[in-house]
Amino acid sequence: MSNFKSFHLDLTAGRTELHDALNLTGAEVSLNNLPAGVSIPFVHAHTNNEELYIVLSGEGVFFVDGEEFVVKAGDCVRVDPKGQRCLKAADGTALRYLCIQTRKDSLQGYTMTDGVMSEEFVKPSWLK
Ligand code: ZN
Repeated sequence: MSNFKSFHLDLTAGRTELHDALNLTGAEVSLNNLPAGVSIPFVHAHTNNEELYIVLSGEGVFFVDGEEFVVKAGDCVRVDPKGQRCLKAADGTALRYLCIQTRKDSLQGYTMTDGVMSEEFVKPSWLK
């Protein structure tokens, strides 16, 4: 059994969810494209999952719990599960963003506290 699965994203698709495409077990990740002036047509919250929104291109307006603020490429927004959220692309530009959804308080370790290095691992051709 392979230790990886890959999937090619259509970067221009309206919304692509990777949970099923990659059999993710700890997160849902979606790539989203809102055309200029278009809003997500509802406000939503979550039961258990926090969300990290990473704006890749364009500009928009983020709404959380009645507060509205401008977001642009490079901005990252973390929303608590109970945050009531919505997002709209600015009138003059499409908005492309990643949304990473993970269970709040589930992270046990990361980077140096979870990574493992060993000289016994098989190496790629460029590290030989
Ligand atoms: Zn959500």
